[in-house]
Amino acid sequence: MRSVDAIVVGGGPAGLSAALYLARYNREVLVFDVGHGRSTHHQRNHNYLGFPDGVPTTELRQLALQQLARYPNVRVLHHTIVRAEALPGGFAVHAQVHEWEGRTLVLATGVLDHFPHFPGWEPYVGRSMFWCITCDGYENRGRDILVVGHTDAAAGEAMQLHSLTDRIRLLTNSKEDELSPRFRRRLDGAGIPVIHDRIDSAEGGDGMLRAIITRGGQRLELESLFSIQGATPETVLARQLGVPLAETGYIVVDTEQKTSVPGVYAAGDVTSLHSHQVTAAVHEGAQAASAANYYLYPPELKAD
Ligand SMILES: Cc1cc2nc3c(=O)[nH]c(=O)nc-3n(C[C@H](O)[C@H](O)[C@H](O)COP(=O)(O)OP(=O)(O)OC[C@H]3O[C@@H](n4cnc5c(N)ncnc54)[C@H](O)[C@@H]3O)c2cc1C
Repeated sequence: MRSVDAIVVGGGPAGLSAALYLARYNREVLVFDVGHGRSTHHQRNHNYLGFPDGVPTTELRQLALQQLARYPNVRVLHHTIVRAEALPGGFAVHAQVHEWEGRTLVLATGVLDHFPHFPGWEPYVGRSMFWCITCDGYENRGRDILVVGHTDAAAGEAMQLHSLTDRIRLLTNSKEDELSPRFRRRLDGAGIPVIHDRIDSAEGGDGMLRAIITRGGQRLELESLFSIQGATPETVLARQLGVPLAETGYIVVDTEQKTSVPGVYAAGDVTSLHSHQVTAAVHEGAQAASAANYYLYPPELKAD
């Protein structure tokens, strides 16, 4: 099998940015994407520079694909990569049936968000169901917000959102209430009611939530929901390759997005617990591509 220069797994902002840079280094690139990531929901990004009215992330992905289509040395394939393995001089990635080989590998696989999964939850994500103050806090100023989560992190986020609106409640949506007495006192002090119950269903339409109905029968009216139930980094392929993960579960990279496995790079949300932003993903993808390109030069072209 012929080996391409670089395989990129993930076609979100990180992977597409990596592919663009690699394309422009005149490398042969394969991008794999299944389109279930964070950049595939309904949100409009208002903090990505250069778009005065904001830009839907899905549109940003489409624009990036159009940009990549100008480079015959890049192919985007819609397969789930289920396995990755090291080979002499490179790597193989496997989908259900096919396999491909590359000399370098960029992992841009993102994270899996733990949004509340009530019936019909998905159309609300990015329209009235959010997870990130940096992304969507500003548009939610003054709104009636239900924060969902059962940890001190959720309590902290509820209090941080309090700087944008005074209409905040916290719903634990859990069997166990893990809020520490310290954070419970702080919530009390901030005047944020805590409801210990679980979500049963929602009322709303066109992506806009009107109320959450709890298993205990409460009807909680709201304008927006902020889910602080965490996310899991998509690191199956990294683990198969022996790429070290941090205690947080995210892939460890250096400032050039190199992992400690030569030829393997990681970019975007999968690389750190914080800075989950399109700007960071685009930057890290570009950086990973540049590092991979340098790795591919023969030794006689490098001074170090
Ligand atoms: C509701 C919401 C609002 C947001 N608002 C903002 C905002 O306003 N501003 C901002 O900067 N950021 C915002 N974000 C965060 C932003 O979307 C992410 O930081 C960004 O999408 C991360 O890019 P990524 O490429 O790392 O991951 P993703 O966008 O998640 O892309 C990863 C891709 O990899 C694919 N993939 C994963 N594993 C495999 C595999 N094994 N095989 C093939 N394909 C695979 C997935 O299907 C996915 O398409 C928001 C996110 C959400 C959910």
